[in-house]
Amino acid sequence: MFNLTYEFKLKPTQNQVEIFEEWLETHRRVYNHALAERKDWYKSRSCQVNACSLVSEYIIRADAPRPTFASQCKSLTAARKENEYLKRVNAQSLQQTLRRLEKAFVSMWEQNHGFPRFKKRDRMRSFSFPQLGQNPLSNRYVKLPVIGVVKVRQSRDIPDGGVIKQARVVKRVSGWYVMLTVQWDVSVPSPLPHGEAVGIDVGLTSFVATSNGLLVKRPRFFVDALRKLKLLQQRVSRKRIGSNNWKKAHKKVATEHEYVANCRKDWHRKLSHQICNNAGMVFVEDLNLVGLSRGMLGKHCLDAGFGQFFNILEQTCFKRDVYFQKIDSRKTSQICPNCGTETGKKELSERIHVCSNCGYTTDRDIAAAQVVAIRGLAAVGHTVKMLAEGKFIGIPVKQESPAF
Ligand SMILES: [Zn+2]
Repeated sequence: MFNLTYEFKLKPTQNQVEIFEEWLETHRRVYNHALAERKDWYKSRSCQVNACSLVSEYIIRADAPRPTFASQCKSLTAARKENEYLKRVNAQSLQQTLRRLEKAFVSMWEQNHGFPRFKKRDRMRSFSFPQLGQNPLSNRYVKLPVIGVVKVRQSRDIPDGGVIKQARVVKRVSGWYVMLTVQWDVSVPSPLPHGEAVGIDVGLTSFVATSNGLLVKRPRFFVDALRKLKLLQQRVSRKRIGSNNWKKAHKKVATEHEYVANCRKDWHRKLSHQICNNAGMVFVEDLNLVGLSRGMLGKHCLDAGFGQFFNILEQTCFKRDVYFQKIDSRKTSQICPNCGTETGKKELSERIHVCSNCGYTTDRDIAAAQVVAIRGLAAVGHTVKMLAEGKFIGIPVKQESPAF
């Protein structure tokens, strides 16, 4: 069983746009209400019984249980009986928003993400339907629960045999979109390690260096658009906040941002396919992306979009039957890929790797990528064989039968 998500542009009527907007606002209110409930509970327990918090806090009884997804769903059902505006929105869809909040908390606990924040107006940009009727997509129309049929620009066909499981309606500057999660009930074996191994080193001087010698320069989508964005932003700040002219100027800024994001995504997809072209296995470094983006070159790290690139690369590998694995990234730039000795730290300006032990000379980033490839092959239990300059192929270790 596997899932793919298809995204199509919607062509809602004026009436439907109003419904979408109203729903988004309701979802936002539900999200914020649920977050407030959780936040109050935490704060009421953040100081000791015999001491008082410096700021006044909402008092919640000591035996009150922590609000959970289940308890909040329950109170949502109760609230729906009394509130007209809650009744107009699909109940499952609202529960999905509560689940999103639950996820935000879980990723805070487990992955050290920040405390979930209240959503301002326009910050809630999508809502989803976890369940759809039979054959929701037909003849250029998508059928959504409660809302009904919405015209859709179906830019590509969905292959036969897929069942549309979920839908998410997304608001962007350029319009409304629907994301359909399609599920195929076939078993697809995950790709096995085979063929040529490609190690990938990412960085800011060259966005990608591969072990077989491909060096790709860093794209500067955001940095290139910065001048234009600055100008547009300046125009916004000269308008009276909330006026029609302010809204118009604001829309231009948002359109430019969406354009930059689209360019980046497209580029990541094309590059992923290029890497997969000759590879049987792809290994990347397991980087601490949050740490990188907080550094001095944070803006550039975020512009490069390493996180998105790795996700897209992983998906592309899956589609093209290429094995994908993340590898420990420590000291990849300090080891000689040819003989394995540590050469010590390189300065950022040092662009070429010259081994003092064996004399192996190559580009510094390519050397790091080759180390990644070698480590990857070791991780999947292959012995490394270097065919030609930077071409790695793994040989599975044969389990020899004992001689006796
Ligand atoms: Zn060496």
